[in-house]
Parts: sequence; C-alpha cells; structure tokens
Amino acid sequence: MAREVAQRSSLLATIGAIFNKNGAAMSPSRSLHFLLVAIAITLLAVAAHPLIPERQHSLVPHADSTIILAPYGDAMQGGPSHSEWVGPQEDYHWRCRVEPEGDYVFCGINLLLSEDNLHGLDLTDFEAFELQLETPGHNQDVQFFMRHYDERYSNPDDNNSAQFNKFDIKAGELGGTLRIGFDELSLADWWSSARDLPRELRRPAFHNVIAIGIGYAQALEPGHYDVIIKEASFVGEWISAATWYLSILLIWLVGLGAWGTHRLVLLSRITRRHRRQLDILSNRNAQLKEETDRYKQLSTRDPLTGAYNRYGFEQRLSQMIHQNEFQPISLILLDVDHFKTFNDTYGHDAGDKVLRQLVNLLDQYTRKQDVLCRWGGEEFLLLCPNTDAKSAVVLAEKIRQLVSEARIEMDEQVRLTASFGVCQIRAGEPYIDAFVRTDRALYQAKDQGRNRVMLCPEATFTGARTSG
Ligand code: GH3
Ligand code: MG
Ligand code: MG
Repeated sequence: MAREVAQRSSLLATIGAIFNKNGAAMSPSRSLHFLLVAIAITLLAVAAHPLIPERQHSLVPHADSTIILAPYGDAMQGGPSHSEWVGPQEDYHWRCRVEPEGDYVFCGINLLLSEDNLHGLDLTDFEAFELQLETPGHNQDVQFFMRHYDERYSNPDDNNSAQFNKFDIKAGELGGTLRIGFDELSLADWWSSARDLPRELRRPAFHNVIAIGIGYAQALEPGHYDVIIKEASFVGEWISAATWYLSILLIWLVGLGAWGTHRLVLLSRITRRHRRQLDILSNRNAQLKEETDRYKQLSTRDPLTGAYNRYGFEQRLSQMIHQNEFQPISLILLDVDHFKTFNDTYGHDAGDKVLRQLVNLLDQYTRKQDVLCRWGGEEFLLLCPNTDAKSAVVLAEKIRQLVSEARIEMDEQVRLTASFGVCQIRAGEPYIDAFVRTDRALYQAKDQGRNRVMLCPEATFTGARTSG
C-alpha cells in the first residue's frame, strides 16, 4: 500500500515536471513581456517609415557613363539660339547663346538615358526629380522635361514622337535643391495636340523614359544664358508607406499564426502525454480498487465458508439499522448439534466440508437481503431484514428441516441436525442485546433436546415449536 502511494506521488511529480517543461514553455509574464516588446517595435516601425532614407538614382554629378549629354539649340531649324559647353563637359556648364535675329527660343541640354532612343529607364519606382541649378548672369524661367518612348505613339525616326512631359521652373525657385514631383509634370500641348491619342495615353508615363532635359522654350532677349547643373537625380521611397504598413501587418499575421500553431502543437503534445499519464494513473487506480476490494472481502468474509465474519456482519447490520426500511429485523442463530462428535468420528476436513455445505444450503434457502455470518466454529447467525419473529421462526423451521434431511456422504450415510434460537430486534434495541436473547433461545433449544427452533421468551409470538 505504501509502495503504491509512493509510486503515485512520483507519477504526479513527473506530470508536474512535464507541465513545467512543456506546458509552460513560456510563462504568462514572459509572454506578456514579449508581446509588449513586439508592440513597442511595431510602433517604432510605424513611426520610422518617414525616417527611411530615400532611394536615389544620381545623374549629376556622378553621371552614369551611359548617359549622353547633348546640348541643343534651334539654330539648325533657323531659330535664334545656339547651345554650347562653357569649359569642360564635367563642369555641366553650358550656355544658350541667343542671336539678335529671333525672339522665341528652343535651347537647352538633353540627358539621354537610352543608347538607342528606344529603351530607356523604368522610373515607376521613383516619384520625383531633384535638381540644383545655377543660372549665373541672368534671371529667366527654365523648363524641365522628360521624354517617354512608347511604340503606340512613338516613332524611332522622329525624336519629337517621344511623349513630352514638362515642368516650368520659375526663376525665383532656382536657389537650392528643387524637387519636382512626377505628378507635377504635364503633357506639353504641342505634343498632345499633334496626336489623336486615347485617354489612357494622354497622361504622363514613366516606365520607359529615354531622356530628360533642361532648357528654354520661351521668348528671350538676345544674349548669353548660362546654366550649371550642380545636382540632378531621381528620388523615390525604397518602400512605399502602404507596402511598409502592409508588411508590418503581414509580419504580425504570420507571427500570430506561427505562435498559434506552435501553441496548438505544444498543447496537443501535452494533451497526448497527459492522456498517457492519466491512462497509467487510471490503470493503477483500477489495480488499487481491485486490491482494496480483495482486502475488503478478506476483512469481511470467513475464508472457509465465504459467509460474513463478525466484522462484515456488523457493518451490514449497521447499514440496515440506519436505513429504517429494513424494519423489522430478526436474528436466527443456529448451531450444529454434536459437531465435535462428527469431527472426532470423520475428521476435521470432513467437518470443514460439512460447514461449507451448510453455508451453501443456507444461501439457497435464504433471500438476497438476508445476511449470513459465521459467528464462530459451527455456529451461524442469520440476519433477516423485513422479517418479523413469526416469519423468522417459519424460516428457521424450514432450514432446520432441510439440515436434518440432508445426507452427508461419508463411508456411511450420516445425518446431522442443528438447533436454532430466533429473536426479533426490538425498536431501538442494541443488536448485541438481541443477540444475547437469541443465544439464550438457542441454549434452550439445546437444553430441550436439540434439533429444534426456540423463540426468545420475551417475544409475544408463541408459535415456536420443537421438532424431532
Ligand atoms: P452441541 O450439540 O452442544 O453444540 O455439541 P458440539 O459438539 O457441537 O459442541 P462443542 O462446542 O462441544 O464443539 C464444537 C465443535 O465444533 C468443536 C470443534 O471440533 C468443532 N469445530 C469448531 N470450528 C470448526 C471448524 O472450523 N472446522 C471443523 N471441522 N470443526 C470445527
Ligand atoms: Mg454444536
Ligand atoms: Mg457450538
């Protein structure tokens, strides 16, 4: 028993250890801590988007060697302007020289982004153009433009067929770095009005930009108009705010999904382990119950005959006394007559066999609720619930007769008899008092010649009779 208890407590300790190891893989306070850190990082990430440096594609001063800088003027077309470098090309300083014979000028510089004028740069990931210009010696507006090639409207043989998107920079805006958003560009009227294009092609496009340019397209007085490009670059976000916030959301969703799956796997593993431990426990429990039942049986039953022993009998009796529905209760005490002589004649084993047969017989002829107890040696006490003295006498008489008629097979046929005392327990009477009265009645039966039933003298019923 002590061993079982020790085994069970070590099992419980094992289960506890399992829970500590796996069930509480992350304690609630650690989880909360982790969650708070994750929320803090998320808030920082949300706030950090504007701080992410912009992506930049620089044209000037670190010009890509594939970019061709091409000054242009309208003198070739009979216009008044010439465009020319002032000093080395690396200075990005050129001049529009306007001769006195005209007033409207097309003059400037092209930065060609495409070697073949067909395949340019995809600028859809950028959103603005940053430009720093100096215009020493004059104060004129400048035009910034971007050329987009699309075979739906462009023709490789016609330079003017590339979409012309422009932004007019006012002279006053020229100090410092100027940022021109792509959304500020507009299609030049001269370009769109020369073409009958559907609506979707009449808006600035940026996926195949073949050139950008800076120049004059306006009336200018004759003279020199110098322009120095200090800085020119495409700029844009590395990652758009929408993508950034969506990514944060996605990370949360994936994280929560992974956490949930992890918890589920953990939980099912613990549940499986727990169930196994419970199975072991319930098996142990069943074994314990079996053993308890066996010990109970041993403690309440007589090993020779299987009838209740005194302890078992008293337990059953006290149950009945507490449950009033078994009233009235009667006692029948029987003692085998001259059993010592039988033992002496046929041996102790034969005597044991007789005792077992007697109990079998009593079992057959008594009711299920009757309680049979081996009171001692060859003396048996039968407790009959819901039985008054009169009925008990009838039952005792029947048993007496059956015992006396039973044949016991020895070398010769032997018959045995038994004597009976019968008593009804009085209301509130301790059963041991009733037993004493019953024993007295049995003694009288013996005294009056044995093989008979005697009712307690105190009982009012007078139906007791003797036989044999
Ligand atoms: P009476 O009619 O007065 O009851 O006479 P008796 O011989 O039955 O009574 P007594 O008390 O003198 O003897 C009881 C005998 O019961 C003694 C013993 O040999 C026998 N006995 C008691 N317990 C057992 C048992 O477990 N097995 C066997 N075989 N005999 C037992
Ligand atoms: Mg006897
Ligand atoms: Mg006896």
